[in-house]
Amino acid sequence: MRLILLGPPGAGKGTQAERIVASFGIPQLSTGDLLREAVELSTKTGLHAKEIMQRGDLVPDELVVAVVADRLDQVDVANGFVLDGFPRTLAQAEALDKELYQRSLRLDAVLELKVDESVLVDRVKTRAEQMAARGEPVRSDDTPEVCERRLDVYRAQTRPVIE
Ligand code: AMP
Repeated sequence: MRLILLGPPGAGKGTQAERIVASFGIPQLSTGDLLREAVELSTKTGLHAKEIMQRGDLVPDELVVAVVADRLDQVDVANGFVLDGFPRTLAQAEALDKELYQRSLRLDAVLELKVDESVLVDRVKTRAEQMAARGEPVRSDDTPEVCERRLDVYRAQTRPVIE
């Protein structure tokens, strides 16, 4: 099963991806998680991505596509995957087409999560509060200001991917 989850920040892509992972036994490929890991490890990609992510902007397509292409070559994706947070631009969608074609892979479905935009910023705020209450590190881009920016970026760059 090869799936893509699309939707604005705070829509619950991560939560739904976890359920799909549990039901189908396929890994979640979250570009946000992969990039946060790269930032944590201070890799070249991470160093490049850090400030961009803190602003709520998109990391350049070439970097993200390279991260996903690498991940597609790992053994655990042989039976499928659920892509979470990718593609986020038309260029990424086109690049993904190529990467899949080169590996003779096809997608089974693209799921779009639709959530009333007026509740999204509040949901991100709640997520940050719940993570803090559990003693987990809070994402530095889970502030209301950065979330607004991430929503603007979603409307401008990711929504056209759905069309
Ligand atoms: P997420 O965890 O999906 O909300 O992603 C967190 C941040 O990582 C985003 O705000 C972007 O800065 C960056 N990011 C994640 N996925 C992508 C992507 N497909 N293209 C560009 N930037 C991304």
